[in-house]
Amino acid sequence: MRQKAEPVEAITDEIRQLCADMIETMLTIKGIGLAAPQVGKLLRIFVSNVDYEDEEGEIHLSDPIVYINPIISSPSEELVKRSEGCLSIPKLYAYVERPEKITVEAMDLEGNLFTKECSGYLARNIMHENDHLNGVLFIDRIKGKRRTLLEPELRRIKQNYFLKS
Ligand code: ZN
Repeated sequence: MRQKAEPVEAITDEIRQLCADMIETMLTIKGIGLAAPQVGKLLRIFVSNVDYEDEEGEIHLSDPIVYINPIISSPSEELVKRSEGCLSIPKLYAYVERPEKITVEAMDLEGNLFTKECSGYLARNIMHENDHLNGVLFIDRIKGKRRTLLEPELRRIKQNYFLKS
């Protein structure tokens, strides 16, 4: 989970099956995003069912969307701090600072490129999942004293869940 994932070269039956399995896993555990390295595949794929966040801060879900070989660009200068959790680090939530807006370009399962301008929780969700493709966990984005405060909890989680690092 700490390694950099490889780009997908072609949409094969194997890739389609992997995406279907990832979607099923995400829905079964009631997650809102899942990256291929989290299921042991070092490929640049994640799935997400976050559609958008409305003005009241409510997160609306859509049918799962597959992002293949995603590229994030145009991060806003405005940064926001919000609570995040991760299926790979159970029961730990912490505030992470990230850009409010980004643009993501990715390929779908038909091989078509699409571009989305994302803000709010959708942007956060995409950045969190994209981090997994680079071997980065949200706790890595917490620095200094707040990170030190998390260490005992992280040790407990590593012991209980054999989190690979
Ligand atoms: Zn995660």
